[in-house]
Amino acid sequence: MTSQRILVLGTGGTIAGAGSERTGSAYRPGGLALGSLVAHLAELGLDAELIAQEIARIGSQDIGFAEWQALHAACTAAMADPAVGGIVITHGTDTAEETGLLLDLTLPTIKPVVLVGAMRPADAVGTDGMRNFANAVKVARDGQAAGRGVMLVMGDAVLAARDARKAATTSIDAFRSYPRGPLARVTPSSLDWFGPPHRIGESARYPFPAELPRVAILTAGAGMDEQPVEALLGIGARGIVLAGMGQGNAPASVIAALARAAASGVPVVRASRVDEGMVDRDVEVGDAALGLIAARALGPAKARVLLMVLIASGITDPVRVQAAFDAG
Ligand code: ASP
Repeated sequence: MTSQRILVLGTGGTIAGAGSERTGSAYRPGGLALGSLVAHLAELGLDAELIAQEIARIGSQDIGFAEWQALHAACTAAMADPAVGGIVITHGTDTAEETGLLLDLTLPTIKPVVLVGAMRPADAVGTDGMRNFANAVKVARDGQAAGRGVMLVMGDAVLAARDARKAATTSIDAFRSYPRGPLARVTPSSLDWFGPPHRIGESARYPFPAELPRVAILTAGAGMDEQPVEALLGIGARGIVLAGMGQGNAPASVIAALARAAASGVPVVRASRVDEGMVDRDVEVGDAALGLIAARALGPAKARVLLMVLIASGITDPVRVQAAFDAG
């Protein structure tokens, strides 16, 4: 078991959501201050000292560079503080996978970093937030939690941030893990890891970006033409992620326009608009010949985060970008 002092970084989201209806039919994410949330948590009698630090009180649909920078700085300081055993970040579920992957790519693995959210607001009947939070603290305090990268705790499961994605808009069991399954199952009375930590002592894979380049997601649709690609280049997109049909497909004119973008130095990653599955190289689209990159297991939202980090690190060559997507 690690130090019992846990830094709790609040960003808002439904876990801190408050509304006028006890059913949670309408509410404001981040309506509850982190201090009130943590006070409720103190009543749970968790065996941990919670140090609260509010980064933001927003719905995670509004999260962006400023909040990510503040989170990264707070995590970096906590990593260096011997009194802190682990970090829990309360976060909206809409973009938890994006924040999770960004931090996973840019933080060392020496202390556990656990994102946690909720699907029902804090003051609604049947709220899941307190249980998720208790579970997250249990994970952050556990001696086997470090060395696994950033994690997300939802629905009694511990998911690797790189594998996690929101797959349902309202159900409590909203998150899936792909291509690997959950790292552990957690309840207030148990924590079972399914394997040993596989990233012990890793330093940050990439520096935290000084700024985020404009990377756009373009969703493919039947019968579309190439003009949206031209429009994205026209507003200065430095990278494009295709949320393609099936294994990252799009009409021939769109693929041709994306290949022209790639040839002009704008990296293009083919992901899928399908909920789950691999997008592999050179299956229906000739990536090698066209200079395109296959997203492999990453869906469009996470592919965009990885591509932003790579471009910010000066990595735009398709071979090197592909290697980063292959790294898993
Ligand atoms: N829109 C909310 C958010 O992402 C939803 C949630 O937290 O579940 O902040």
